[in-house]
Amino acid sequence: MHYYSLNRQSPPVDFRAATIAGQAPDGGLYFPASIPQFSPEFLNALPTLSRAEVAYEVMAPYVGDTIPEAELRRICAETVDFEFPLVPVAPGIAALELFHGPTLAFKDVGARFMSRCLGYFSSEKAAPVTVLVATSGDTGGAVAHGFLGVPGVEVVILYPTGKVSPLQELQLTTLGQNITALEVQGNFDDCQALVKQAFKDETLTAKRTLTSANSINVARWLPQQLYYLFAWQQWQAAGHAAPPVVAVPSGNFGNLCAGLLAHASGLPVGHFVAACNANDAGAAYLRSGLFEPKPAVATISNAMDVGHPSNFVRILELFEHQHAAIRQLLSGYTVSDADTRATIRRVAAAHGYLLDPHGAVAYFALGQYQAEHPGAAGFFLATAHPVKFPEVVEPLVGHPVALPAALHYLLEKPKQSVPLAPTYAALRAWLLGA
Ligand SMILES: *Cc1c(COP(=O)(O)O)cnc(C)c1O
Repeated sequence: MHYYSLNRQSPPVDFRAATIAGQAPDGGLYFPASIPQFSPEFLNALPTLSRAEVAYEVMAPYVGDTIPEAELRRICAETVDFEFPLVPVAPGIAALELFHGPTLAFKDVGARFMSRCLGYFSSEKAAPVTVLVATSGDTGGAVAHGFLGVPGVEVVILYPTGKVSPLQELQLTTLGQNITALEVQGNFDDCQALVKQAFKDETLTAKRTLTSANSINVARWLPQQLYYLFAWQQWQAAGHAAPPVVAVPSGNFGNLCAGLLAHASGLPVGHFVAACNANDAGAAYLRSGLFEPKPAVATISNAMDVGHPSNFVRILELFEHQHAAIRQLLSGYTVSDADTRATIRRVAAAHGYLLDPHGAVAYFALGQYQAEHPGAAGFFLATAHPVKFPEVVEPLVGHPVALPAALHYLLEKPKQSVPLAPTYAALRAWLLGA
């Protein structure tokens, strides 16, 4: 498999080069040269396959010969080594719970797959690799955990001060070892812009091999397809007649775009719903055909506070920029903080199910779609555990959300971060000095 740059100024590369580089030299995102098709045999056998087997079958064509089969099978098995349950919540609505990994958010899968691939590739290299990543909340923790202790890999995380939840901040700042957290005095878009600029800085990249672990990296983006296959296994087992409507809480649109890719490979899905908070450039495009990124605003679903969703270009590419074709498969909804809060309260009271703010955005959007399409059953992606957002959830449901025992250790560890001005000069100086 080859990957071409969506800016079309850089040569195509293989999976190894795309994973190490993150972004193409011309600043474009990498995109697979062809979309593998799931065979009818694979789709028929799906209900009987283990998660590790599904992961291997889906990822193998994308990885090509850059990782030997036995190694890739091991990486796949480790990546999906926890549950992805599809839990009924209300009539016609289930939750695909993606928060049973080590950092309780869906980004664990992409981060685990990428860190293991990069660990394999860097074991072949002499010079250490620096993973530079901007986070609006969950990416950083997932990436940090994925890479913790991987030899030959340094991780530098930029996060916006005061704009991630206390638990997210602990997950970013308490690991130590090969992980450093830079606490940027700005918002997520500042962090993302700084990272992008660093990748374009040839003097810097000549001194330090930089790679990106944001969802733009193909090794993080592509394995997110697996959620939709695991969901389909369970959807079939539950005896549903029609393929599901799938609602995806979206920020950078990596997760949703991965679902669309799985669908393009042949996975049955009835319709996709892009659920956005007030940062709705993507959802607005789906309604109007105009893509107008704007500065990010803060919401209670902070991992989706992205003004300029970087993966959106991949969605456009997948559909060859045909707005009508996109609209047939994908609808966009904007969900206010007030509706998100009301949804958390209502679903807890009526169904005894605890939503986090991101899952709640998707739950509400799914309901909007179903109101317009009666009888369309589906599920939403519950992308984070509600315990990660106690300051939002607890006042709404009226009781504390218990921290899973697996995370108790975090509370004992001291925060370690490096304050950073939101300027490229500051980041550059730090990277060259550190
Ligand atoms: C990152 C994140 C999202 C948004 O996913 P994208 O792939 O950026 O669209 C949604 N929910 C949570 C909890 C996240 O961490």
